[in-house]
Parts: sequence; structure tokens; C-alpha cells
Amino acid sequence: MVRPIMKDPLFLAMKAEPAVEQDQDVIRDLQDTLQACRDRCVGMAANMIGQRKRIIIVSAGPVPLVMVNPRLLSGRDTYEAEEGCLSLPGIRKTTRYRHITVAYLDSRFKPKTGSFEGYPAQIIQHELDHCEGILI
Ligand SMILES: [Zn+2]
Repeated sequence: MVRPIMKDPLFLAMKAEPAVEQDQDVIRDLQDTLQACRDRCVGMAANMIGQRKRIIIVSAGPVPLVMVNPRLLSGRDTYEAEEGCLSLPGIRKTTRYRHITVAYLDSRFKPKTGSFEGYPAQIIQHELDHCEGILI
């Protein structure tokens, strides 16, 4: 189901809880909502649709990548980035890693480890911040 985008800064500042296998509906809603916003959005965290769960989705290939309970294992090579966010007005500066390695569960809760660089890595870091209640 396509959900409205959460814009309440107090809600968005709360940390997300670990997701469990019963949270499949949150994954589906994230997929549907990202699809509905794809002209202006490349990634989304569950708290952006009002669900305080550690689930993110990243538009980084032909099929958006779902990451459940993602954890940054390492990052290197920082740079200054400018980002926007569907939940916030305007563009803001932030610091990101060019290369990251992330541990996560896929949409079927299978453990994965992935290395990412460039734009996909930037999107993942933005959404990881959302899980921690951090906004750009
Ligand atoms: Zn955002």
C-alpha cells in the first residue's frame, strides 16, 4: 500500500526498532511507496512512512534493494555531499563515505553482506541515518 510521507521531525528523530519476519507488510508498503515516488525519490526508510522499523529500500539497480536491520560494517574515503530528503525541505550538506560495507537481511530475512560505492553508497548512508533518527 502506498503510504503518506512522514514529515513530523519529532517522529523522524526517534530511533527505529529491529524488524522481525512479521514486518513483511512494512516491506511491501516501502516498495509500493518508493514506486509511487520514483520520479523524486531514490530511497526510503520505514520511519519515513510512519513505521519505526529498521528497514530501508534503495533504488540502486534494476530492482530496488530492500535491506532489513542494516548495519554499517565499514566506510572509507569521506567527501562532502549535498542531499535532499522527501521528509524535509531543501538541500543540505553532509559528509559521506565513498565506499561502504553493510550487513543486512534481504527481504526474505537471509543474511547478506554487500559492498557499495558512489551514489548507491550515498543513498544507503542517508537511509541508515534515518534508522538512527538522524536527519541531514
Ligand atoms: Zn531522507
